[in-house]
Amino acid sequence: MLRLMRAPNLVIGQHWVNVLAVAGIRCELHNCYLNGALGEIPADQCAPELWLMDERDEMIALRLIDAAKRGPSPDAPPWRCRQCGETLEAQFTVCWQCGTARDPLDG
Ligand SMILES: [Zn+2]
Repeated sequence: MLRLMRAPNLVIGQHWVNVLAVAGIRCELHNCYLNGALGEIPADQCAPELWLMDERDEMIALRLIDAAKRGPSPDAPPWRCRQCGETLEAQFTVCWQCGTARDPLDG
């Protein structure tokens, strides 16, 4: 187990988990239990932590999350996966077919 990073909030944390899960990376959000107290304590004190089940996934996980953070612009055109050639809508930061993260240089 490896603590990868802290998510700014539960929604984003869960989004990152989804991104990693699509890529076949096993991970968990910890600290979520504090979410039940949201509204009573400052939000920044219940930031969830993203943990990797396998620390060997660290580099690819960081890449995927970095891509997810940047996200596409709303009117971004579809892009083509450089790994398998699949065409993907702009809102996907990871190829659903093969799990390859979008390369910023891809059209
Ligand atoms: Zn692909």
